[in-house]
Parts: sequence; structure tokens; C-alpha cells
Amino acid sequence: MDFFASPNARAVGQCIYCGCSSGKLSREHVVPYGLNGPWVLLGASCAPCAQITAEFERTVLQELWPMARHILGLQTRRKKDLKQPWPIVVERGNRQEEVFVAPDRCPLYLPSPRLRSLRDLSTSSDPDPMLEFRHIAGPTLQQIGPAYDAEFAGARLRYRPHDFRRLLAKVGVCAVVYALGLDPLSGSSLPAAIVDETSTFDHIVGAWTGEPVNPSGGGLHEMRVKTTGCDLHVIVRLFAQFGAPEYHVDLGAANPAFVDSEKWPFRA
Ligand SMILES: [Zn+2]
Repeated sequence: MDFFASPNARAVGQCIYCGCSSGKLSREHVVPYGLNGPWVLLGASCAPCAQITAEFERTVLQELWPMARHILGLQTRRKKDLKQPWPIVVERGNRQEEVFVAPDRCPLYLPSPRLRSLRDLSTSSDPDPMLEFRHIAGPTLQQIGPAYDAEFAGARLRYRPHDFRRLLAKVGVCAVVYALGLDPLSGSSLPAAIVDETSTFDHIVGAWTGEPVNPSGGGLHEMRVKTTGCDLHVIVRLFAQFGAPEYHVDLGAANPAFVDSEKWPFRA
């Protein structure tokens, strides 16, 4: 059985990462604010944890989707950044040069990291960091080249797969709290792992390779909490509207007391 998330908010009243309930608790966006994520947890993050999550989210957004955010006009707390011309790298006779293109004339590509499926964990090495690119709007890079008398045009992009997986793990934790509250994650080490710099997420975050779970072409982002037995899974499609791939966060077993309670919505 699945649980759909709707654009709304849930009040939490304690830090979902470290459990503290004193001091100022800020709201936590399930999908980052800077990606126009519609789902909000109120009073869900203490100041130190909020600082940590904001930092790695900012890194991913700046590294992976600066162009997409820029051209789609996604919300930002630094509005003047949206109007700046965007750097495109052009190559003329083996020499690379940066040219600046106005946002409304810029090619828009949406990069999506290609992650390994969690079913393929026996494969020892991860094929990261491959990126898939979708042309979303504006001219293509092939069309931009001749306008600058260049043979090739491209954009510079560098990203850290670890930060991307960490962001997806955070989305997974927040999605479960949003849909079911904190109880199912009671006893799980995952919420604390999100704010621990030494954690790795290779074994719980990957590509979703089963039947599509979330619709594409509807909301900008889609996510759904699924279960297999008592195990919790979150399937998330960032930029679903543009047909971007689905990712899988395996959150492990839900707290048995919660599974046995009336609140467990996945009864047969
Ligand atoms: Zn905290």
C-alpha cells in the first residue's frame, strides 16, 4: 500500500535529526526550499542541525542545478542572482572561452545523477558520477555554438555524489515524518546520520528501477512512501514534471511498536 504526499505541512515539535525539543525549532522543507519543494515540516529542526542540512543542500543546488534554478526562476532568498547572465563555455579552434548569455536566451539542461540500483549492491564499485542531461527550454548547446562562432558549446558542472545521496536520504527521512510522523523512525540511526559528516549513504540511496511509482508531468517534484512488509521506502522524483528519473531511499524497518499500532496505515 502507498501513501501519497500532498502539498501541505505537518507540525513536528522536535528536531527530527537529534531529537532535541528545546530552543528555536525551524521549519524543514522535505524537498529543499530552493527547489520549490511544497512539503513542509513545522518546528522540525534545531539551529545546529538546520545549519548542517542547509549547507549540503545549498552545495547540491549550486553544483547541480544552478542553470535550472536560474532559468526556471525557482525561489531564492538571493533574488538578484536570477537576473545575472549565465556563463557558457565555447570552444573555438581548441581554445575554450567563457561567454555570458542572458537567462532568456540560455540553453536549459536539467542534469540528473545516474545512481546504481540498490538491487545491484553486489556490484563492488559504483558507476557514479555519471549525469544524464535533459534539454528543457531555450536553444540547444549545438545552436548556441554558431552564434559565438564556436565549434562546441557547453556548461561547466561538477558535483559530489556523496552530497547528492545525502540530500536524497534527508528527503527520505523528511518524507516519512511528513507522511507518518516521527514514530516509525524511532530507534532508527538514519535521522542522526543525516547530520553526521562521517556517514555514507551508498547502501540506502540509489536509482529506482522498478515500475514507475510517481507520475511525471504533474507536480514539479513527486514522492511516495512505500512499504515492503515492515520496511519503509521513499521513492522520489525531483523535477518529475520534466521526466527526470526516480530515486529510491531504503529507510529500513519501521519501529515494530508503530507497525503493531493502529497508526500503521499499510494494513492488508
Ligand atoms: Zn537537531
